[in-house]
This record gives sequence, C-alpha cells and structure tokens, in this order.
Amino acid sequence: MNMLEVKNLKAKVDEKEILKGLNLTVKPGEVHAIMGPNGAGKSTLSKILAGHPAYEVTAGEIKYDINFSMQNLLELTPDVRAKEGIFLGFQYPVEVPGVSNFTFLHTAFNSILEHQGSEAMSEGDFREFLYQKMKLVSMKPEYLERPVNVGFSGGEKKRNEILQMAVLSPRLALLDETDSGLDIDALRIVAEGVNKLRSKDKAIILVTHYQRLLDYIKPDFVHVLADGKIVQTGDASLALELEKKGYDWLV
Ligand code: ADP
Ligand code: MG
Repeated sequence: MNMLEVKNLKAKVDEKEILKGLNLTVKPGEVHAIMGPNGAGKSTLSKILAGHPAYEVTAGEIKYDINFSMQNLLELTPDVRAKEGIFLGFQYPVEVPGVSNFTFLHTAFNSILEHQGSEAMSEGDFREFLYQKMKLVSMKPEYLERPVNVGFSGGEKKRNEILQMAVLSPRLALLDETDSGLDIDALRIVAEGVNKLRSKDKAIILVTHYQRLLDYIKPDFVHVLADGKIVQTGDASLALELEKKGYDWLV
C-alpha cells in the first residue's frame, strides 16, 4: 500500500505556473531524496503537501493514506494534515516571537494526542520526554524557554526543526534543505535524527542539494525535480552522478 500518491500535479503561485505535471509515489519505510536546480519547485512541492495557502493546485491529485484508506489530501486543512502525521521542516524556519519553544512543542504534541483520542501529557511528563529528545539533537535545555527560533543561528534553527520532528514523530516527514548552512557536526546530528525516525511505517522526503547528507542518510530513491517535474529517478548512485555531472544533461 502507498502512503502518498502525487499524480500529474500542477500548481501556481501569483499566477505563475511552477509545478507542471509532477508524479511521485511514496511507500511506508521509504526515504526519498529530491534534488534539482534552484527554482525548480522543490519547496513549492513541500509547501503544497503541508497545505500552504499561497499555492493553488490547478490540476492533478494528491492522495495520502489515513487508516488504510487513500484520502484526498487537498481537502484537508493544514492542521489536520499535521495531526495525521505530515511534518514540514522548513527551508527557512519561521521565528515565532512571544511563544516559547517549550509551549510550542507541548501544544503541538498534545494537539496530536487529542486528535488521536488520547489524554494530554502533563507539563512535567512532557519536559522529561523532551529532554531525551533534546539530547538526540545535542540541544541545551535553555533553548526551551526562548521564543521559537528568535535569535537562533541558521544552524540552531535547522536543529530545532529536527527537534520538532523528533518530538512529533511524523509518519511523513518532509525536510526542505535541512542540511543547508550546517557545519559537519550539525549535519551528523540532523542525519542521526532522521535515521532514528526511520522505520517500516514511516516515510521521509528529503530535499537536498548536497550528496554529503546522503553519505549519512541512505535514500531508497533519488529524484531530480527540474522545471516543475520529476525528470529522473534512480537509486543512491544517481546522487553521486549528479555531483559529478550537474543537472544540465537532464534538463
Ligand atoms: P526550489 O525550492 O526548487 O529552489 P521554489 O519551489 O522555492 O524552488 O520556487 C519555484 C519558483 O517559484 C521560483 O521561480 C520562485 O521564484 C517561484 N515562487 C515561489 N514562491 C513564490 C511566490 N510566493 N511568489 C512568486 N513566485 C514564487
Ligand atoms: Mg527550496
């Protein structure tokens, strides 16, 4: 059974057509890497999957498995998508002044529990749980009391995205260039976070420009997205080939 089916997806923003008939199928347990030139539509695809309101889908469909039945993802609001296990790690993480990292994570976590019909986790229990997850991404407890991402360095923001992912444990994680701007230690931490999430019932879509992330995270598939479409699909060796040859031979 598939987890995600994107068929002939066309989408525009501000009257500009960006996705031009994109197909992608993801099964539970798989890790897909999406590479491709700047401006190809990689972030657009991620945002449409998460439900960003600025993007208008003009053709095609997106189906997502919920309780063993493929649902029309486009009919679900962004918060329902999140509660049903879709997570987007932003290319440019958003600062949220006035909301502490702790409150943000606790509220998000409990919203998912509530959606599942489970009881909320108390502040104390959640703090214990959170400390374990923070160790995973080597983040100091003081970051919990700071407003979400405010004044965080580029690398700290990316690490915070991985913390959110580790806490929320999504079924389908979309990571949009989470590796860009990271030093080698932070890259390893991000990769460890992703590898810990890997399991037979979860799937991950990684948008990346760099082969080096894929040294740590072995993808099952590598796709090239160019001019709004997937123009090539291969295994991990495709990323190595792209590193040597660039994208010109494909577009
Ligand atoms: P990628 O992530 O592959 O680099 P994007 O999906 O971010 O590419 O962008 C694809 C194209 O859509 C780019 O040409 C970009 O300028 C354009 N685009 C994205 N968002 C907007 C927007 N809000 N308004 C106008 N153009 C946009
Ligand atoms: Mg992008």
